[in-house]
Amino acid sequence: MERVAAAKQFIENHYRTQMKNIKDRKERRWVLERKIASSDVSEEEQINLIKDLERKETEFMRLKRHKICVDDFELLTIIGRGAFGEVRLCREKKSSNIYAMKKLKKSEMLSRGQVEHVRAERNLLAEVASHCIVKLYYSFQDAEYLYLIMEYLPGGDVMTLLIREDTLTESVARFYIAQSVLAIESIHKHNYIHRDIKPDNLLLDKNGHMKLSDFGLCKPLDCTTLSAINENEAMDDENLRESMDVDGCFPDTDKGSRWKSPREQLQHWQMNRRKLIVHWKNHLKFPEEARLTPEAKDLIYRLLCDVEHRLGTGGADQIKVHPWFKDVVWDKLYEMEAAFKPEVNGELDTQNFLKFDELDPPTPARTGSGPSRKVILGWDYTAEPPTEGTGTPMLASSGDAMSP
Ligand code: ADP
Ligand code: MG
Repeated sequence: MERVAAAKQFIENHYRTQMKNIKDRKERRWVLERKIASSDVSEEEQINLIKDLERKETEFMRLKRHKICVDDFELLTIIGRGAFGEVRLCREKKSSNIYAMKKLKKSEMLSRGQVEHVRAERNLLAEVASHCIVKLYYSFQDAEYLYLIMEYLPGGDVMTLLIREDTLTESVARFYIAQSVLAIESIHKHNYIHRDIKPDNLLLDKNGHMKLSDFGLCKPLDCTTLSAINENEAMDDENLRESMDVDGCFPDTDKGSRWKSPREQLQHWQMNRRKLIVHWKNHLKFPEEARLTPEAKDLIYRLLCDVEHRLGTGGADQIKVHPWFKDVVWDKLYEMEAAFKPEVNGELDTQNFLKFDELDPPTPARTGSGPSRKVILGWDYTAEPPTEGTGTPMLASSGDAMSP
């Protein structure tokens, strides 16, 4: 049954993509013809312009037909590691372009029933073209892994920034939070919900502008309802108490604790964060020394509260007009200078990421903050190395180039 469903999905996707390609091609032709009609270029030039477009279309089709595989890339530094695989810098051999390659182990996704999540991740990235969302260039698979080839954002993720800076000023925080609002608004406009918003899924480009990534838990809204998500995924109080740390403190306020490496800090913070926040009624207290403005406190209270009082339930504008964002020029945010300009020396620079050893076990982080996908998993290092180029029709349009 699963195979039949997968084949059906593959065929449907294939034809949907074909139809869209034909429509896009017709549209490009129509746009050019309109341009030509409204300008006074000679007949000969008109013919040349049309021929030029046809040549480009043929080249584009040829590129799309090429089945991309992992051999087309030179694998470079590892920049992220999660429960299902790793993210590394890579160079496309033919073009020398640098990308980030996210690699996910199929057997893990299948055994944990995560195929729909990966499909949603790939589809969202392919469908939503927005400067607030990390751009996907290719997706493909081999016998063992699924691959997403994305733009490389060299500024690192916001979690790494927080570990390094420790505390951000309100104006710096305002910049990133405002950009997050825009990014979340843009995926909601496409009828997807992210469901895993957290600092390590917010990435910075070389100019310091923020993009949303990791759509591994996202859902298209038309096949689910919010109440179903709450019902299945809310943790009850008993579970929370049981899994809570003895002190329930963040590591940096926990004076007695031993020194923790950045990676341990990250894991510790992730474990505790959801528990403390979910329990906002008991735990949300602003320490004196934080010296937050009344507007900042008000915004936090209006986001961490019961849903009937929560800002944003009636649309992003409710958040945007909050006094804390008074001076934010929303439609110029991505044009202005960013709050921090990351140090990036060359296209291969990975200084803004934590260091990962090639042979390290997988990071069992990303727990406690989201539903099923972020569980602690073992990783089978005894498995055979991947066999390339034997893609099966499991993911939508495997091996397609996304854009010329
Ligand atoms: P996971 O499901 O394991 O959380 P992510 O997609 O969030 O997977 O990737 C893990 C980490 O890898 C991120 O927190 C980030 O540090 C890094 N990363 C992911 N994608 C990119 C990218 N396109 N550019 C730069 N770094 C990335
Ligand atoms: Mg992530």
